[in-house]
Amino acid sequence: MDIAENINQLQQELAAGVRMVAVSKTKPNEDILDAYQAGQRIFGENKVQELSRKADELPKDIEWHFIGHLQTNKVKYIAPFVSLLHGVDSLKLLKVINKEGIKNNRTINCLLQFHIAEEETKFGLDKEEAVEIFESDDFAELTHVKVCGVMGMATYTEDENQIRKEFRNLKNIFEELKNDYFATDDSFCEISMGMSGDYNIAMEEGSTMIRVGSLIFGERNYH
Ligand SMILES: *Cc1c(COP(=O)(O)O)cnc(C)c1O
Repeated sequence: MDIAENINQLQQELAAGVRMVAVSKTKPNEDILDAYQAGQRIFGENKVQELSRKADELPKDIEWHFIGHLQTNKVKYIAPFVSLLHGVDSLKLLKVINKEGIKNNRTINCLLQFHIAEEETKFGLDKEEAVEIFESDDFAELTHVKVCGVMGMATYTEDENQIRKEFRNLKNIFEELKNDYFATDDSFCEISMGMSGDYNIAMEEGSTMIRVGSLIFGERNYH
C-alpha cells in the first residue's frame, strides 16, 4: 500500500466542491501520518475511544470526523474537539450533543443520517422522522448544534443502478429539507455519501463529501 500515492490519486479524482474524509478506523498512527504528509487533513473514525486516542497523539490541525453510530453516553468524550458528526439519527442524540456543546462553549456540527439502503441493519432516519425533528419545539431550542446536511450509506451490492437510485434518493431528501427548513441557511450544504466501492457514483449523484477507507489504507483486519 502506498498510502501517499492513494491519497494523491483520489484527490485528483475529486469532483469540484467535493471533499474527502480519509477513514482511518483500525489503522495505526503511522498510516495516518503517511496520509497527513501527503496533504490529507480530514480523517474519519467510528469508535469514540480510538478517535480520542488518535486525536490526542496526532497533529492538532487534523479535522476529525466521527462517522459511526454515536451513543449518548459517549458524546462527552469527543464533544471538545470533533469537527463533524456524520451519524446523528435521533432528537435525543441531538439534545445530548447540544448539552455537551454548551458545556464546551462550542457549536457542534452534525449530519443527519438517513436509511437509504435495502439492508435492515443500517441505522438512519427516513424523511418523515427528520421532518418531525425539525418541526419540534425541542429542536428549535438547540443553540449549540448545527445541522450541516445529510449522510447515508448505499446497499452493499454490485448493482450500480441500485446504488445510484439510493444516492439519488438521499440527494432528493437533502433538497426537500433544504427547501423547507434551511433555505436561507448556507451551512446546510453537505451530502456525505460514497465509500471505496461507490464514490464515483456518489459524486455523479451530488455528493459533497466522500468517506474512503480501504482504497487508501488497504483492507481492515477486525479481530
Ligand atoms: C468504514 C466506513 C467507511 C469507509 O469504508 P471503505 O469501504 O473502506 O471505504 C465509510 N463510511 C462509514 C460510515 C464507514 O463506517
